[in-house]
Amino acid sequence: MTDNNDTSTGRRALLVAVIRDGQDPRQVTEFLDELEFLAATAGISSIGRITQRMDQPNPRIYVGPGKLEEIAAMAKQKEVDVVIFDDELSPSQTRNISREMPVAIIDRTKLILDIFLQRATTAYAKTQVDLANLQYMLPRLAGMWTHLERQRGGTGTRGGAGEREIETDRRTIRRRITLLKEELTRIDRQMATQRGNRGSMVRVSLVGYTNVGKSTLMNLISKSDVFAENKLFATLDTTVRKVVLDNLPFLLADTVGFIRKLPHQLVESFKSTLDEVREADLLLHVVDISHPNFEDQIEVVNQTLAEIGAGDKPVYLVFNKIDSYAHIPKDPDDLSAPTRENIPLGDLQKTIAANTRTPVIFISATERTGIERLRAELYAMVREIHEGRYPFNNFLY
Ligand code: GDP
Ligand code: MG
Repeated sequence: MTDNNDTSTGRRALLVAVIRDGQDPRQVTEFLDELEFLAATAGISSIGRITQRMDQPNPRIYVGPGKLEEIAAMAKQKEVDVVIFDDELSPSQTRNISREMPVAIIDRTKLILDIFLQRATTAYAKTQVDLANLQYMLPRLAGMWTHLERQRGGTGTRGGAGEREIETDRRTIRRRITLLKEELTRIDRQMATQRGNRGSMVRVSLVGYTNVGKSTLMNLISKSDVFAENKLFATLDTTVRKVVLDNLPFLLADTVGFIRKLPHQLVESFKSTLDEVREADLLLHVVDISHPNFEDQIEVVNQTLAEIGAGDKPVYLVFNKIDSYAHIPKDPDDLSAPTRENIPLGDLQKTIAANTRTPVIFISATERTGIERLRAELYAMVREIHEGRYPFNNFLY
């Protein structure tokens, strides 16, 4: 099967989004910033953005017909290789849009899938991502065929040969999906056994939006060397480490970051990763306080946790990156309502602490601020869980 919609490196992209009725345009700007960051992670540079205000995206071509022409013209003029849509496109939308311009058409879902495909290293992660990707591709083969046809100089009409080829591809993909599912079931069983064998130790999972500093924190707490970099989804696999704080051992897991509109195919296939979270005794929910929309990110994480059945776990909220929190004092002549950036960090911390029901801490993982306190509080929480579970067993091993 040929995947002409893949995103190899060095490509140029246009980003497209719809601003829905009643939606704050700044939110769409932020979505597009994130989409641009995702694209960069996949090695694609974004060279332009196009948005359109609409009630709802057009079911046939996502944007309006005039806008689509504008996109096609801009794509040609700026010599882009790919147009990326911020929402998941239906197979027919992808097909219809592809007919209007000779460039790859991908959506946020496919971009995320491609990043996972590029970055999966272990056999387990590869199997999960392969499966998610094939499930995404299966209903979309016809559109890609049309596109290929045009590249070959064909007319774009799908004749018998084309249909037959698609049918063969579909059968091949279905067979592979079945095989991958069997393989995953096997690995999942194996991993469940491994988790079972970890026995009595308290299990703590780092969760949070992508790029907030989970892996950095994992390294700090466990003194290990987990890969951390300023890219989305630097890690795909769950890393579990045994950590000992003051003679009290527990397991700490670093998991894949959550993100808005995480492809549901991925959520399903990342079962073991999510099981690690589902079976945790305590969640360290890491938040990037320097991100302009950290509240939304907290919301996305909470929703995802609820979706996977981990919504009622004890949570320790860790606000990271206080070192890069930007405070822009408000001009006294400016009579507009203060924005979040106008609030000094200390005040923001007080407001957050007053409004959250879970324990909260403010730290900087890179500057090592607040880390001793974090360790101490974590120790107390793990100890409490441990003693609650084994009241007759002294926690010291
Ligand atoms: P993850 O995706 O949540 O695992 O995030 P990483 O641990 O990979 O970190 C993402 C980026 O944020 C990296 O470039 C880190 O160096 C950076 N980072 C982590 N903690 C801090 C912090 O406290 N302050 C600042 N300024 N950057 C940080
Ligand atoms: Mg990470």
